[in-house]
Amino acid sequence: MHRRIFSRRSLTIVSLATGTVLGGGYHYLNSGPSYPLSSKETRRPPPPWTPPSRKEMLDALVKSGSSPADEFDVLIIGGGATGAGVAVDAVTRGLKVALVERDDFSSGTSSKSTKLVHGGVRYLQKAVFELDYEQYKLVKEALHERKIFLQTAPYLSNMLPIMLPLYKYWQVPYYWIGCKMYDILAGKENMETSYLMTKGKALEAFPMLKSDGLVGALVYYDGQHNDSRMNIALIMTAVKYGAVAANHTEVVKLLKDASGKLNGVRVRDNLAGKEWDVKARGVINATGPFTDPLLTLDNPSHKPIVQPSSGIHITLPNYYSPRTMGLLDPATSDGRVIFFLPWQGNTIAGATDTPAAVEAEPKAPEEEIRWILEEVRRYLSPDIKVRRGDVLSAWSGLRPLVRNPSASTTEGLVRNHMIYVSDSGLLTIAGGKWTTYRAMGEETVDEAVKVFGLEGKVTNGCVTDRVRLIGSDGWSRNMFIGLIQRYGLSTDVAKHLAENYGDRAWTVCSLAEPTGQLWPLHGIRLNLQYPFIEAEVRYAVRHEYAQTVVDVIARRCRLSFLNAQATLGTLPRVVEIMAEDLNWSHSRQQAEIERATKFLASMGLPPGIEPPPLKTHSFMEKFWAFGGFTARASSEARTLRVAREMVYSRAQFEAGEISALHDAFTARTQQYPAVEEETRLGRADVIDLIKSLKGYEGVSQKDYEYVLTETGFAGKSDFNFDEFVEVCGELRDIVLSPAPKALVAERSRIPVEKSGGGV
Ligand SMILES: Cc1cc2nc3c(=O)[nH]c(=O)nc-3n(C[C@H](O)[C@H](O)[C@H](O)COP(=O)(O)OP(=O)(O)OC[C@H]3O[C@@H](n4cnc5c(N)ncnc54)[C@H](O)[C@@H]3O)c2cc1C
Repeated sequence: MHRRIFSRRSLTIVSLATGTVLGGGYHYLNSGPSYPLSSKETRRPPPPWTPPSRKEMLDALVKSGSSPADEFDVLIIGGGATGAGVAVDAVTRGLKVALVERDDFSSGTSSKSTKLVHGGVRYLQKAVFELDYEQYKLVKEALHERKIFLQTAPYLSNMLPIMLPLYKYWQVPYYWIGCKMYDILAGKENMETSYLMTKGKALEAFPMLKSDGLVGALVYYDGQHNDSRMNIALIMTAVKYGAVAANHTEVVKLLKDASGKLNGVRVRDNLAGKEWDVKARGVINATGPFTDPLLTLDNPSHKPIVQPSSGIHITLPNYYSPRTMGLLDPATSDGRVIFFLPWQGNTIAGATDTPAAVEAEPKAPEEEIRWILEEVRRYLSPDIKVRRGDVLSAWSGLRPLVRNPSASTTEGLVRNHMIYVSDSGLLTIAGGKWTTYRAMGEETVDEAVKVFGLEGKVTNGCVTDRVRLIGSDGWSRNMFIGLIQRYGLSTDVAKHLAENYGDRAWTVCSLAEPTGQLWPLHGIRLNLQYPFIEAEVRYAVRHEYAQTVVDVIARRCRLSFLNAQATLGTLPRVVEIMAEDLNWSHSRQQAEIERATKFLASMGLPPGIEPPPLKTHSFMEKFWAFGGFTARASSEARTLRVAREMVYSRAQFEAGEISALHDAFTARTQQYPAVEEETRLGRADVIDLIKSLKGYEGVSQKDYEYVLTETGFAGKSDFNFDEFVEVCGELRDIVLSPAPKALVAERSRIPVEKSGGGV
């Protein structure tokens, strides 16, 4: 018996089993999304960066037409997800890149998606039941890209649990197997494993769900993002790496050399009405649903390759879904799939795939809106009245499904993306999905390098699986706390800024005017219900190329996607802020407000609504403004102020205090030569200087050491001005608050048994 138990065979089996359990346990505990590491560095602003202006971008485009040395390697037409992804890829390989967009970046399909970063459970279902290998490959690739997506732009994307409600017992094993296959396919790139929920647990997690007939639910995980902000982040990343990108610049003609090969395009600035030629070694057509009109410019008799399919979405108030759980009904009354997802504080519900015609601003048809409401009603509890009046916004997006032009006419649509090179050398990339924008960019640039003969120009291979998008480096999940502590923002505003701008939120805050209230100190809201603040409008104009009111309300701030009526109310103030920065005339302001009202009509605003009147100011306000006494500073003074205030806490300092600190610091540093072009003061000098400042006389060496530890500067030997201000800010709190020693003396220890059961 003893020998049998300890035989070599049994020992091997036991060892293997123990190893498997330990390995499995380790893998389970370490699965799930990896978040960027937080550090003390993420508590303070990153170095400020102001992108080149739109005028500089247009000048660079003009120059390429007149001087061969300024010719671009590639010119990309279309500033949606696809074009922006190609631009990031090409510029990070060392190519000279230009991108032109006829409307605004992300104004097409890329701002109107379901906002999922997903492999697609419904595609997996098809792959299995129709034994479709192409479909399987599509899901596999998208799951791989999902992981990269969440790592390269961690602040703009998040993991979202999605519930599949089960109303029949046979659905339990069916959907369970499907979800587990989805997990397995993702492999080590899976987010969290799917799980089964009892009826009680399902209703606890999603109380709005209809309980009648419910037998349980399955929960699986996918990613979610803010599509147009992601698109803008891609454009700004490309610009940071040196690309030239211009919105409101339309390609009106393709230019060819004597042999019929493309060597540039003619563009029109749709805001100024001017036209000129742009020269490039190669041209890439990334115009999504508008691919065919572009191909017609190249060859008027070309065979159409895009079959647009529309998908509509509606936005409902937040009480329609829990804040952190989505819902998917894979089999609606007419066989379509419907999503019901929390997004930016509200709920979006949408269905996909209805064949449609191509148009610039498609409108969600009323019957489609009612169909979604009907479906929503089917799985919500009867005590929830689903009202048409609860539809806050509605929009329609066009999916560019593609057909291979080289294939026979009977061939079906290509479900993935497709790269196609015309005889003239025009390289077209179309189809695919948001989730796979990066892989599409990589494939396109690989092909472009070959077709355009750019082998000698690239400096490296594709790096976009590692390139973190702008705003990611100094972002951490707790960064919003730093914003509150520095700027005195409301918590929801701080979270919203951190989640939409990443580390650029510091710059947004530096543009925020004081509220004039006890709390919050900064962050005047555009609408009281939503966390969007006026500073975002200024930031959009100065740092993200917003040129029209629609650019701001639709693509930079997402208010029009959340609530069209509330957006209408904000228009006069948005126009006013933009007019200050862009020097708009009265007639331009009027045209902007009319254009924005028309746009809101395509976002579900009832027809016949008149544009709100522009803001008017009283005689006294105008008088002060004329005398230059208002906050409307000249643009030069404003640039200086922005640069200075960018990194300092205005919550902690009185007006003029920063300037006084700056003068004192500069006076002291003039005694020393500059180190590496930056003026710094040694550790001992800093405390010496601080003690000599008015109001800081009581600062002790101990306070100083304490603050250095708190700020993360304990190991530093010298300090620049920003760091000096940070130390002063922290010391100010200590000097003005009760002395720590007194507090310690008052605090007597309470024995655990008398602590009242608390921790
Ligand atoms: C309803 C719906 C829901 C979706 N949901 C998801 C989802 O949840 N997850 C996912 O991964 N994918 C989703 N997708 C797919 C995804 O949104 C698209 O694949 C992607 O946005 C397409 O991007 P694009 O850049 O190719 O096209 P677009 O975003 O349409 O960009 C093309 C751009 O080209 C510009 N342009 C056109 N002509 C010219 C010209 N002559 N000169 C200059 N510029 C020009 C246009 O103005 C436009 O901005 C969804 C699609 C739809 C329709």
